[in-house]
Amino acid sequence: MQPDVLVIGAGVVGLSAAIAAQARGLSVTVVDREGPAAGASAGNAGAFAFTDILPLASPGIMRKAPGWLMDPVGPLTVPPAYALRIAPWMLRFAAACRPGRVAASIAAQTALMDLSRDELQPFLRATGTEGMLRKDGNLQVYESDAEFAAAAPGWAARAAHGIAFRHVEREEMAAIQPGLAPRFIRGTFTPGWYSIDDPKLYTLALAEHFRARGGRIEVAAVTRLSATDTGIVAETADGRRLTAAQAVLAAGAHSHRLARTLGERIPLETERGYNTTLPPDALDLRTQVTFGGHGFVVTRLSTGIRVGGAVELGGLALPPNWRRAQAMLAKAKAFLPALRTEGGTQWMGFRPSLPDSLPAIGRARATPRVIHAFGHGHLGLTQSAGTARLVADLLTGAAPVLDLSPFSPQRF
Ligand SMILES: Cc1cc2nc3c(=O)[nH]c(=O)nc-3n(C[C@H](O)[C@H](O)[C@H](O)COP(=O)(O)OP(=O)(O)OC[C@H]3O[C@@H](n4cnc5c(N)ncnc54)[C@H](O)[C@@H]3O)c2cc1C
Repeated sequence: MQPDVLVIGAGVVGLSAAIAAQARGLSVTVVDREGPAAGASAGNAGAFAFTDILPLASPGIMRKAPGWLMDPVGPLTVPPAYALRIAPWMLRFAAACRPGRVAASIAAQTALMDLSRDELQPFLRATGTEGMLRKDGNLQVYESDAEFAAAAPGWAARAAHGIAFRHVEREEMAAIQPGLAPRFIRGTFTPGWYSIDDPKLYTLALAEHFRARGGRIEVAAVTRLSATDTGIVAETADGRRLTAAQAVLAAGAHSHRLARTLGERIPLETERGYNTTLPPDALDLRTQVTFGGHGFVVTRLSTGIRVGGAVELGGLALPPNWRRAQAMLAKAKAFLPALRTEGGTQWMGFRPSLPDSLPAIGRARATPRVIHAFGHGHLGLTQSAGTARLVADLLTGAAPVLDLSPFSPQRF
């Protein structure tokens, strides 16, 4: 029987939206070309970074970028083979860094963060995943007074939005996370920073919950979307036609390809990220540590110690450059000398990123029956519960709890 809703993509965004729709009484099928937790949702750093309200597209990044781009395995790279392809996106990114645009982005991002934070605990309770939440905080560390001073405007913006943090000197920093190399002279501790035990296990748990409530998960690659008078047709690579009254496009960094089949061009790109997950006993890690000047974090998961981050604007097709994961691991060893670096597993993932660092949440241009829910960049796990709430509002015709205009898929 045809479901009310077809969700394309079984990552954390698609499954959260599917569960929220199910909770409103809709019948839902999810389709994913590989099954649940196949994309970025599996290997991320597991942080609910609700305090990360500053968009990546900001004047600060424009100051840091030239230096970072000089290092082929540094925090930000553009592989030469992709430089021309990414140029239009980078121009839009640069335009979004203008102060007036940044202020508007911060306001929109804060509203989505607050909604996502408020929605998270009820969502975890409803899905039986509350036990996976950790409340270990985050420690951002600095190597110089200049680096600390450069971070000050960001902290001021967070303070203005009521976010709690404290700047800590060496001694307190060592009490929060012992074993940091002496090059780090101070830090900022954000206690209200939550994370998940393991992002892949969390996404799989959401899939299980969805199935247990009668949801279907189909494994198939969707190749084309089209609208009829009564619904949506999703054609698949294995020759099927999946139909539903409405659809949610949540295919992460691949979403723009399917939007294109509806005649809509959305400037979605990918910020590729890398990490290495070491065995759980690789380090006595007490909180998530952010090495902001180097673009990576070290995170404790139930399944190991994850070292990773970085941004590579390299598209969906180029092979991974594992030297990037190795470079971050070598730095992590220098910064936390007790870290044991043997026995790790490397991973690369595709962050789905729009040029202004905000997601696309709203109806497709071609048809109100398709709802876009993608482009969460560095924050897809963080914003998953809030996005799910908004998608469920749209699917049921309720007034969305937030003003969706800053997230309009047609804003570019
Ligand atoms: C290194 C790294 C660290 C990160 N750390 C964090 C963090 O700490 N906190 C945070 O909030 N976010 C973090 N992120 C970002 C986060 O992982 C993403 O924003 C989020 O996972 C996006 O979720 P999604 O469901 O939109 O996409 P995905 O998880 O990528 O899911 C998309 C799904 O769509 C499927 N799909 C694609 N095309 C098709 C098709 N044609 N037909 C059918 N199915 C299709 C894919 O198989 C995939 O399963 C990080 C990302 C990276 C790379």
